[in-house]
Amino acid sequence: MISREELRQLASFECQYSNELAISFYFQPGTPQDKSHREEAILAKDMVRKTLQELQLNGRNRDATEDLERILHLAERLHGNQARAKAVFACSGRGLWREFDLPPAPSPTQLFVNRRFHLKPLAPIFSEHPRLWVALIDRQTARFLEVQFDQIQEQNAFTNPLSRHGRSDGYAGYDAGHTQRHSEDEVRRHFRSAAEFLKSAAEKKQFEALVVGCHDLNWPDFAVQLHPYVQKRLLGHFSADLGSLTDEMAKKQAEKILRESLHQHHQELISEAVAEAKGNRRGVTGLRRVLRAMELGEVECVIMTREYSARAVECTNCRHLDSHLVHYCPVCGRATRALDDVCEALVPAVVKGNIGLVLVPPDDILDRVGNIAALLRFRADRNKNELLAAS
Ligand SMILES: [Zn+2]
Repeated sequence: MISREELRQLASFECQYSNELAISFYFQPGTPQDKSHREEAILAKDMVRKTLQELQLNGRNRDATEDLERILHLAERLHGNQARAKAVFACSGRGLWREFDLPPAPSPTQLFVNRRFHLKPLAPIFSEHPRLWVALIDRQTARFLEVQFDQIQEQNAFTNPLSRHGRSDGYAGYDAGHTQRHSEDEVRRHFRSAAEFLKSAAEKKQFEALVVGCHDLNWPDFAVQLHPYVQKRLLGHFSADLGSLTDEMAKKQAEKILRESLHQHHQELISEAVAEAKGNRRGVTGLRRVLRAMELGEVECVIMTREYSARAVECTNCRHLDSHLVHYCPVCGRATRALDDVCEALVPAVVKGNIGLVLVPPDDILDRVGNIAALLRFRADRNKNELLAAS
């Protein structure tokens, strides 16, 4: 799996000479249940072969040919049912070859040959896959699982067995109320120790998001014990009988809650960006204004549809990006170069700038404002900046 640092390195890469090419290959297997699995591998090979032929016809670039042949070999090995989503980034002219396993994503198998790596499907990976913990709690036991991509790791587990008093329903009716209270105290203590463990793990930043699996009856009693710091990371809870719940089932439930909460969060981001933009506050919409806000260093998070693409130009000197297809840079006057898709330059800039990127499915609200928007950290005093730029 890729690390943030590796992603940043890929974002910083750019071809220096016209004979260098940066190749990005994304392979997305079909689900193991369906037959399209094999077809995906065949499709991938066809895609690589076609690109190879095109490059050879144009008499371009022996290095890129080498890279593509290597990718073709790789695609041939992707037949097995175990094949996972993969990304390969290559530029043999610069001795670069990186291969990563990826979590399943809604982006198809794709191949890109360009000056920079195509990072759009990869850039949101960390926000879409936060370090997720699942706390499984019942009246006596507590287990804590970390779910990251397709791995499950137990982080801790403990049992606070109920005492004989707690377990029994009293000695033939002897002070049943007392026994009941005693048992509730024990359970409360157990919940408190589980909540304490979560608090200290949250303080150590061991997880970014939390889902709790516990019986609906116990949930209110456990939830009140959670520290506000932990509650902030809580995405939700699901009802489960821990006796029959496997780790794999717990992971599935937690991931479902994660997906729902991401979807809701993204919807809120879209509404917020659009509303803020309308009020000229902390939001902008449309490519031109997003690019401008990027250059002013105002952007906290860029929001666009997965399929978003727009032509633009990039200055060969100062790297200014412009949605108007001008031949000369309006900032420094040097020649510009056409970009088939502004994301080629915008996404690496987002990654390098540590700016959030949210990709959403087609959305009516976003569609009305050009399918791209941004939330801002602040809004620079533009009049002052413009005066400074002009002086
Ligand atoms: Zn320029």
